Amino acid sequence: MPRTLPWRRAPLVLVPGRPHLPRRVPEGTRAVVVGGGIAGISAAVVLAERGVRVTVLEAAEFLGGRLGAWSHTLPDGSAQVVEHGFHAFFRHYDTWRAILARVGTPLRPVVGYPVISRRWPAEDLGSLPAAPPLNLLALFARSPSLRLREIAGADAGLGLALLAHSPADTAARFDDLSAAEFLRGLGVSERAREMLFEAFARSFFCDQSGLSAAELVAMFHYYFLGNPAGIGFDAPAEDHRTAIWDPLAGYLRERGADLRLGVRVDGLDRVGSGWRVRSGSAPEEQHEAEHVVFALDPGGLRTLLARSPVAPDLARRAAALQLAPPFAVTRLWLDRPVRPDRAVFSAVSGEPTLDSVTVYSRLEGESARWAARTGGEILELHSYACTAPTAGEATRRMRAELAAIWPETAQAQVVDLVERSEATAPAFPPGSAGARPGVRTDAPGIRVAGDYVECPHPSGLMERAAMTGVLAANDVLGAVGAAPEEIRGIAERGLLAGLPVHRLQRRR
Ligand SMILES: Cc1cc2nc3c(=O)[nH]c(=O)nc-3n(C[C@H](O)[C@H](O)[C@H](O)COP(=O)(O)OP(=O)(O)OC[C@H]3O[C@@H](n4cnc5c(N)ncnc54)[C@H](O)[C@@H]3O)c2cc1C
Repeated sequence: MPRTLPWRRAPLVLVPGRPHLPRRVPEGTRAVVVGGGIAGISAAVVLAERGVRVTVLEAAEFLGGRLGAWSHTLPDGSAQVVEHGFHAFFRHYDTWRAILARVGTPLRPVVGYPVISRRWPAEDLGSLPAAPPLNLLALFARSPSLRLREIAGADAGLGLALLAHSPADTAARFDDLSAAEFLRGLGVSERAREMLFEAFARSFFCDQSGLSAAELVAMFHYYFLGNPAGIGFDAPAEDHRTAIWDPLAGYLRERGADLRLGVRVDGLDRVGSGWRVRSGSAPEEQHEAEHVVFALDPGGLRTLLARSPVAPDLARRAAALQLAPPFAVTRLWLDRPVRPDRAVFSAVSGEPTLDSVTVYSRLEGESARWAARTGGEILELHSYACTAPTAGEATRRMRAELAAIWPETAQAQVVDLVERSEATAPAFPPGSAGARPGVRTDAPGIRVAGDYVECPHPSGLMERAAMTGVLAANDVLGAVGAAPEEIRGIAERGLLAGLPVHRLQRRR
């Protein structure tokens, strides 16, 4: 199994394309995809390209799931598109970017990756060298949080475990530990912990005590230490509906796919060697196919399989899925700009509620045009593992915390706002490694895809959704003798994997 090496820059081929096999599937191959988020649409794109007759059933009135977008009209009559929230499209998201490349989604670089706080000076995690250990050495050289006195008490064994990631070993050593216990054990100063580790850990929507340390180490490997593209990211130049979902819907329809929106699947039955997927009792609400891809959010899969427990292992794994605490997202249209030197995206550390702020009017086309017309600014505030009881209270707390960090926002008048709080993200609690559903299941013909699904290759968030979607499509293609879609990504093991770094770990 390949390991991360300083000179290894190009993505690795994780699943070869096997060009000697036919690309097209036999006539009459049908598949039903339940869920039209990244996972479902990635699966549908690959299947439709190969000649599978695909039906996508999506409960919402729009595609995209947690990356979805919808219309909103401001009091001044301006039409805006509001999204589920700012998303960082990391440069090593090879699978998701390959899907977006089919429709030419314009991605533009988001400069820097500052972590800001009211207690400490800002740190920039962006523009570090791409290869380990150079990225780590550069971080040590550059970061005021990693001066000698900040790391004097650090546990070298735990620190090196970050560079020695290997899926099975990391799970065996750290899955019973929480991320909070791991970070405490690391023994770095409060400043280093807050500025470098906590902001990162919270991007996975979980409170640190509810996140497995094994998942944290795996994500450090995936996003930072093993990432050959560096930690920089891009974002679409226009809103997600314009840049991603409308073009992908068109691409799928051109290839014969049947996209049905506003259709909530509520059961399925075995019929012959295939399945009947139901969204009601009328004949047009029954969809039969040999192959089914479940690409629902974790709560949706749990609910559906509780009603239709099609196979014992899948039913048990779905029932055990846990959701992360709610996240809150508030988009604010302000009557005045923030300081011109504010970064487009900033992670916020050390605040009880606010985790990030994005200056939308410096990111997306329509937002920029509104700001140019009115002299205002559009901000988006995020809170992960949010403890505020309502979306309104989350907005109030996030605004107050922002005003302490960016004082110019304190007096700004809110022209309009859209606020939401929901719990749809997966949790990765300690002790859960190996217990989530995999792409293949014990129900013949049923695959599962999504950002919570056990994935055999390093990946996270949007890329895990896309990769498991393409793996699910590959499993369908394999079942009918067609060639798999090539999948690229990063090395599974860290630079020091297999070395006895655990011997350096302090005894507690
Ligand atoms: C605020 C926010 C910020 C984020 N930032 C980032 C980021 O910066 N970088 C990153 O990589 N990731 C980020 N993510 C995570 C990313 O959005 C998810 O990992 C990804 O969108 C998950 O895609 P999915 O297809 O697995 O699931 P979903 O998007 O949840 O799709 C599941 C779909 O299934 C549908 N469904 C559910 N039940 C049924 C049913 N019974 N019948 C039919 N349809 C059903 C749902 O309506 C939904 O459309 C962020 C998420 C949020 C919420």
